[in-house]
Amino acid sequence: MLDIDTIRAQFPILGREVNGKPLVYLDNGASAQKPRVVLDTIQRAYAQEYSNVHRGLHTLSTISTENYEAVRGTVARFLNAPSEESIVFTSGTTEAMNLISYGWAAPRLEAGDQIVLSVMEHHANIVPWHFLRERQGVELVWVEPDVNGDLDPQAVLDAVTDRTKMIAITHLSNVLGTVVDVKAICSAAREKGIATVVDGSQAAVHMPVDVSEIGCDFYAITGHKLYGPSGSGAVFIRPERMAEMRPFLGGGDMIREVHRDRVTWNDPPMKFEAGTPGIVQTIGLGAALEWMMDLGMDAIAAHERGLRDYARDRLGGLNWLNVQGQSTEKAAIFSFTLEGAAHAHDISTVLDKKGVAVRAGHHCAQPLMEHLGVTATCRASFGVYNTKQEVDVLVDALELCHDLFA
Ligand code: PLP
Repeated sequence: MLDIDTIRAQFPILGREVNGKPLVYLDNGASAQKPRVVLDTIQRAYAQEYSNVHRGLHTLSTISTENYEAVRGTVARFLNAPSEESIVFTSGTTEAMNLISYGWAAPRLEAGDQIVLSVMEHHANIVPWHFLRERQGVELVWVEPDVNGDLDPQAVLDAVTDRTKMIAITHLSNVLGTVVDVKAICSAAREKGIATVVDGSQAAVHMPVDVSEIGCDFYAITGHKLYGPSGSGAVFIRPERMAEMRPFLGGGDMIREVHRDRVTWNDPPMKFEAGTPGIVQTIGLGAALEWMMDLGMDAIAAHERGLRDYARDRLGGLNWLNVQGQSTEKAAIFSFTLEGAAHAHDISTVLDKKGVAVRAGHHCAQPLMEHLGVTATCRASFGVYNTKQEVDVLVDALELCHDLFA
């Protein structure tokens, strides 16, 4: 079992007050806070070890390059990827999806080809496929979750036709908390030769992820939700798919030779990493992933299951609160509206006055909002440092909202 007090003590920001109240940070779905080890790693990387990577032969460049490149192995271990060469660094999931869209899908998909995706996707796993629709006539085929917010893998597979070239699916909904059985989807897709893109932005934060077991072609993670720096991230790419990809961004580092009349590419994964990368961000991501693996992903998942069950009970007791997504095995992410009450923004403003940070809006998931028949929700999303006492603070603050707005 995790010692949450010890964990909390590692996050300086959790000690501060907001609006005269102790901070209750429940906006982890948007971005997580950073532990001391990540802050110290960033500080050391800039203050004592900083230089550009890959280019210099001097000592600092060598240290920087070694620290940066070591993170490839850390990410591979974190995701149980077959090799560190199967990991491409990105600035986050948005860049990963655009890389896949431009690098793999655009040269392969033609007018009339289909991409199957769910209405639960984050815009980062929608808009890059809309580019293909607009520019190349690719069709997007949408699958919906059931009333509990569960996504039946069979419903995804039923949407597949002989024109389906790709399935793009989230592993964990950032709005409903639903966990999707991506393994069932990816293994069936693989038998049909259909490429699979999994958005692991949320899942990798809350549960162990094993890309070798899932059997996907692409799996994207983003550092800022993983207790690491913003502007960091990575995508696992199955080596066969990586070999099929054309480069995305062009510039330094991704080339082998540049001449007036021709250019040749560096070997993958460097072929997909142009220019000076987020050096310190990536080194910070490595520290964050090591920190999570030290805690143990099973232990993190178990702690958050406890929070989920407690929050589900307490929020379920508020009969004027509409919680979206009742999946039994959901993550500790709760999106809600107040019956007949003010806009989600007003609710989040009242919660903020009580020191409770939640997100309000469409959560970059407008197709899901349309499906749910709402324009916005408030979302309380929990992380490893949250406690049951904080659930109580949230509930008290919601009761105040009910008194004010009902
Ligand atoms: N996918 C999901 C499920 C998310 O929750 C987010 C972030 O909110 C993203 C993608 C976008 O990730 P990034 O901020 O790294 O571009």
